[in-house]
Amino acid sequence: MSEKSKGQLLQEELSYKKLNYFEKASEEERQEIFAYAEGYKAFLDAAKTEREACEFAVLLAKDAGFTEYHFGDPLAAGDKKYFVNRGKSVVVFRVGSENLEEDGFRLIASHIDAPRIDIKQNPLYEDSGMAFLKTHYYGGIKKYQWTAIPLALHGVVILKDGTKVCVRVGEEKDDPVFYIDDLLPHLGGEQMSGKASAIIDGEQLNVLVGGLPYADREVSEKVKLSVLSVLHEKYGITEEDFLSAELSAVPAFGARDVGFDRALIAAYGHDDRVCAYPALTAVVFNESRHTVLAMLVDKEEIGSEGTTGIQSKVFEDLMEEISLALGANFRKVRAQSKCLSSDVTAAYDPNFAGVYEKMNAAMVSCGTAMCKFTGARGKSGSNDANAEFVGEVRKMFAEEGVVWQTAELGKVDVGGGGTVAKFVANLNIDTVDLGVPVISMHAPYEVVSKADVYSNYRAFLAFMK
Ligand code: MN
Ligand code: MN
Repeated sequence: MSEKSKGQLLQEELSYKKLNYFEKASEEERQEIFAYAEGYKAFLDAAKTEREACEFAVLLAKDAGFTEYHFGDPLAAGDKKYFVNRGKSVVVFRVGSENLEEDGFRLIASHIDAPRIDIKQNPLYEDSGMAFLKTHYYGGIKKYQWTAIPLALHGVVILKDGTKVCVRVGEEKDDPVFYIDDLLPHLGGEQMSGKASAIIDGEQLNVLVGGLPYADREVSEKVKLSVLSVLHEKYGITEEDFLSAELSAVPAFGARDVGFDRALIAAYGHDDRVCAYPALTAVVFNESRHTVLAMLVDKEEIGSEGTTGIQSKVFEDLMEEISLALGANFRKVRAQSKCLSSDVTAAYDPNFAGVYEKMNAAMVSCGTAMCKFTGARGKSGSNDANAEFVGEVRKMFAEEGVVWQTAELGKVDVGGGGTVAKFVANLNIDTVDLGVPVISMHAPYEVVSKADVYSNYRAFLAFMK
């Protein structure tokens, strides 16, 4: 090879270029990338709702010697704890050896809810030989994408006497699945000429759940009755019990490798389990001198509200309780704390190049993506992280050899999005967004690169160092 010219050398020294992590990784690291993806896929299949993700996290933590924490419990350096909030959000944490008032918390905040189709409170009806459940979708979806695919039902029903019954149908090979109808193209002329947002109406997202008439001539609504009789037999549910149920229809398909080379993973709910899993495994399986918290929260997709969303005081209370137990002043602690708000961003998709600004879009396989700001139309609603903190995180990643990139979600005037970052930052905690780029975000089946999943994990390890 000929020697590099002066200009070439100068260019190398002065220019910034994104790296493809697969390309940069050694053979050994490549194997680590692929091995880590297997654990992630198992998590995706086990945890399709926030409740299931919460259960998974607790089991994983318990297996690694973590024990449950309650407000008021004493804490000491080296403790490994998990805190469950209503079965729908969980914080897994380690108490570090550093002085908490001087060092603060290292928080990794991700969410475990995902867009889906929720069942209404009085849902069951029969029409034209079929039984359906009425629904109200959860989160930002393209409604038409949720028709004509296999769906599973997940959730809980609280019976009249207060008993909680868990429902999970459609995941096992022999299970039935559920289904939302679409119109055949032969009769779809008018439907297809309308706006995509109106192709399927919210009230058309009815889930097909039965078609067998109950064998009794005297009964009206025979199909509905046969569905009710199955539900009663299997779960002890009556129609009235739907009033206090939380049931969701989610895609029934499992996580699968994509491509001849298996570089990518398709699954339901990468947003935001692709950040929750690395956060969880980083804290569960790695020690840290810092006090580190993996926060797996609910309700991000509908505004982070409620008792289980990040805006709930419970998370602030938890941090205050931990501070108190360690004899630290919470105000001082949070002023020293740092947070990676870990949520996905849009991956640049060459098939829809028009909505991206390529220089600042997240590229698939170029590592986990830091968004200094999110928001829309003039950064509105965004935690715009300050350059000092971005610089600090950048240094942590450089020291640990993390392959990462920066990203902005789409062209300036096209759209935007928000995350939990601003709510954490409001507590006087330096926060920046960092997460995996996703193809087809919020679709029933989303795609990510295995390299980016592992990069995200590596980034968390650097943050915990
Ligand atoms: Mn998200
Ligand atoms: Mn989302």
